[in-house]
Amino acid sequence: MLTVNAYAAPSATEPLVATTIERRDVGAKDVLIEIAYAGICHSDIHTVRGEWGPQQYPLTVGHEIVGVVTEVGADVTLHKVGDRVGVGCMVNSCRECVNCLSGNENYCLKGNTGTYTAVDRDGTITQGGYSTHIVVVEDFVLRIPEAIPFDKVAPLLCAGITTYSPLKHWNAGPGKRVAVVGMGGLGHMAVKIAHALGAEVTVLSQTLSKKDDGLKLGADHYFATSERATFTDLANHFDLIINTVSANININHYLKLLRLNGTLVSVGAPPEPLPIQVFTLFGNRRTFAGSSIGGIRETQEMLDFCAEHGIAPETELIAADQINEAYERVLKSDVRYRFVIDVETMK
Ligand SMILES: [Zn+2]
Ligand SMILES: [Zn+2]
Repeated sequence: MLTVNAYAAPSATEPLVATTIERRDVGAKDVLIEIAYAGICHSDIHTVRGEWGPQQYPLTVGHEIVGVVTEVGADVTLHKVGDRVGVGCMVNSCRECVNCLSGNENYCLKGNTGTYTAVDRDGTITQGGYSTHIVVVEDFVLRIPEAIPFDKVAPLLCAGITTYSPLKHWNAGPGKRVAVVGMGGLGHMAVKIAHALGAEVTVLSQTLSKKDDGLKLGADHYFATSERATFTDLANHFDLIINTVSANININHYLKLLRLNGTLVSVGAPPEPLPIQVFTLFGNRRTFAGSSIGGIRETQEMLDFCAEHGIAPETELIAADQINEAYERVLKSDVRYRFVIDVETMK
């Protein structure tokens, strides 16, 4: 076992504190990563606070992880010491179900092994990336292209793939009108990626406070959803709407913005069920869908795509002792657009 520095929540109601956690010994197919940067995802906050169900504490979260390989197991072939690598929202899967075999490990029928709070193969509870080191089986470790700044790349491992996967699946590209609902950590990545794919991009945000940013990041249009006229002006307009908002929005108002055969995909989920008016789906043969991260192959494709198109997340770098303060700011949407922890400050 390896004892490493980390930040952990002692309980659902206490702030995160500096501590140590255990990592397993490096197995034959494992890679030991010295973590350099870790992004703060809204899911981290929901999870440590027990809002998505009871957890075991102390708990270390973080699933936007990048670092450098410092040791590899005897049978490792994909990575070598010194490589820049990343780990996202999952660290393993069953590898034998139909979804795993088709490269959709994120949809593993037995459930993928989450980077934190999941039961690992050895029976321990996985611990996330707010830590100096992590041991991960090589197939779930991504290569980080040199072209993306190392201190900015981490959020691609969750926010990047969460938006890239549905944009690709529903064919965002030239001639397609794509709307992004919400201009936060996920939304700003959706704007950049949809723009790079060649789609006409519209941001639908509560207010126009981030309009300048949105247009700078690649949006062609920007509308405030607090204005009633937005929903009449844009009726029957979009091929694809990516909803990144976790709050309970009036989903029927948004569905009516879809043109013929259009799809609204939710990547943010409110805790309550949504009251969908099925008649709204009849009109224009609309589809309401969901999407969850992406497979390993697709995640690598997304990283390579971002490198090729010069895409990196907009980030604010913080020291480890600012994590609790950063959480409060995430909850107030006071970040443009993702916090990244400099893990050097944990060493
Ligand atoms: Zn996340
Ligand atoms: Zn599986």
